[in-house]
Amino acid sequence: MSAARFEQIALIGIGLIGSSIAHAARRAGLAGRIVGSARTAATVEKALQLGIVDEGFQTAAEAARGSDLIVLCTPVGMCGPIAREIAEAGAFSDAAILTDVGSVKGAIVRDVAPHVPVGVHFVPGHPIAGTEQSGPEAGFAELFDGRWCILTPPENCDAAAVARLKAFWQGLGSHVETMTPEHHDRVLAITSHVPHLIAFNIVNTAGHLERVTDREVIKFSAGGFRDFTRIAASDPTMWRDVFLNNKQAVLEMLQRFSEDLTALQRAIRYDEGDTLHRLFSEARTLRRGIIEAGQDTDAPDFGRRTTTHQAGADEKA
Ligand code: NAP
Repeated sequence: MSAARFEQIALIGIGLIGSSIAHAARRAGLAGRIVGSARTAATVEKALQLGIVDEGFQTAAEAARGSDLIVLCTPVGMCGPIAREIAEAGAFSDAAILTDVGSVKGAIVRDVAPHVPVGVHFVPGHPIAGTEQSGPEAGFAELFDGRWCILTPPENCDAAAVARLKAFWQGLGSHVETMTPEHHDRVLAITSHVPHLIAFNIVNTAGHLERVTDREVIKFSAGGFRDFTRIAASDPTMWRDVFLNNKQAVLEMLQRFSEDLTALQRAIRYDEGDTLHRLFSEARTLRRGIIEAGQDTDAPDFGRRTTTHQAGADEKA
């Protein structure tokens, strides 16, 4: 049997990420059974209808019972309470691996680790892949292909459990890297969290310019603004939890961002064309580096695919 294969995988939360894990695990033959739970009965029902889970439950504890891999795929703020619920029900199997997919890692370790019984291996994770879509219908097997998944195992974590989870994510199509939760949160603050905040903000700023909103914002949105509106369509609950749980790193990166923005403002105000040209050239070089690293294409329109579920899969996390 492959080390990456689990007898029963429990998905706690069956939205975009949970359902994509199910599709990718089935594609790679990594699951004997897949079970799941969600907040609402409607989502569990939908996941059953779509064949994402073999069995659905109303509670996380019922789904976790008897599972050798439990993946928390809910908004970040729910991970701690759910781990506590499973622990209090005595539903963790001995030697099970507990992981999550949350976009923040320090707060998840803080909230989940106290509830993990001895003998259960907690290995936090974060696939750097996603779209602005939510729900069980949004998932697809290719979501993780060629994307990174970051694991943040605690120092005393069982090495065999980490290796097994790493093999699982590789089986789902990902490259895997390990780092500390603190490092993860600083990196993701600048690569994902602050960009989302900027998108939410710029779309609202345009929306508040009432005269423009009705027609021109939509009519002329083929420019950069269109990309911001797509990112700003991301799930408000998920992103509320990201910002509330990665405060320190986000605020630090925002401070740096506003200093750099002030430098640009100043260059514009004082007609410092050379400064603007230099700063824009630096940004362009960074973009080329991303393409060379295979994390995007240089095709026109960012090589964006036209299928709705894959559009923009590269930018989200
Ligand atoms: P999603 O599509 O909105 O799905 C969230 C799921 O969590 C839903 O099935 C929801 O159930 C369930 N849920 C919410 N509260 C719950 C609770 N108290 N108990 C049990 N289930 C609960 O979200 P997603 O995009 O898959 O994101 C899930 C996680 O992945 C988040 O932590 C996010 O940070 C992380 N992530 C997201 C992306 C992305 O681009 N979207 C990328 C990487 C990582 P209902 O449907 O019944 O409400």
